[in-house]
Amino acid sequence: MRRLIIAGNWKMNKTVAEAIDMANGLNRNFPDDPGLDIVVCPAYTALSETGNILQDSVIGLGAQDMYWQDSGAFTGEISPLMLKELGVKFVVIGHSERRQFFGETNESVNKKVKAAVKHGFIPIMCVGEKLEERKSGKTFDVIKEHIELGLEGLVIEAPENIVIAYEPVWAIGTGVNAAPAQAQEAHFYIRKLLTEIFDGAFAQSIRIQYGGSVKPENTEELMRQEDVDGALVGGAGLDLNSFTEIIKKAQKVARV
Ligand code: PEP
Repeated sequence: MRRLIIAGNWKMNKTVAEAIDMANGLNRNFPDDPGLDIVVCPAYTALSETGNILQDSVIGLGAQDMYWQDSGAFTGEISPLMLKELGVKFVVIGHSERRQFFGETNESVNKKVKAAVKHGFIPIMCVGEKLEERKSGKTFDVIKEHIELGLEGLVIEAPENIVIAYEPVWAIGTGVNAAPAQAQEAHFYIRKLLTEIFDGAFAQSIRIQYGGSVKPENTEELMRQEDVDGALVGGAGLDLNSFTEIIKKAQKVARV
């Protein structure tokens, strides 16, 4: 049984003070084991303070990116060792905004995923097609390339040690989510690809989140899809009430 994982990607939002408010609010709303995994991914500047508040809570701390080297002359980058020191457990890697605006490639994603696993983080590796790729029938080709190149040569000991996020780019921040059946179709395909890379039973246990305009109104139906194991939430994860609602809707279908 795959435990659902709901992660909020705060992107370039929230000052430290705002992040502290949100973290305190989440602690208040979810004092005990919610029956699923909750993760928040603040901006780097708010990681430390947010991590302090979430320490000993049921809410995990995630980063939005990470460089693959431990240290060195890489101006502007953040290393795995720096994140580890702050209690980070999850790292989003290969988000479409990084691919689109900051030159992230399947090769750099692969290096980051490997470095994340090596340092004991759980990478949340994002994959997904753009609108024109879907329109021209290339959805599955793009997903295949993202998965195969992103995971190339990766050795992981347990299926819990990685999370895949299917995030169709056309659904991110647009208010138009993938229909639950569309999400399931893509997730089923991703799991098939994972079966070819890892052992079948192992692949069955890897969690695949859906991301793209998740909101309280569509959470339950999306989470009911067989191969949808959680959500990566952008916009609707910034507000305490709506993120809390999303988690509560997911709790209705939580499997473990
Ligand atoms: C995201 O950026 O990962 C995302 C899914 O954003 P939104 O929920 O705003 O579509």
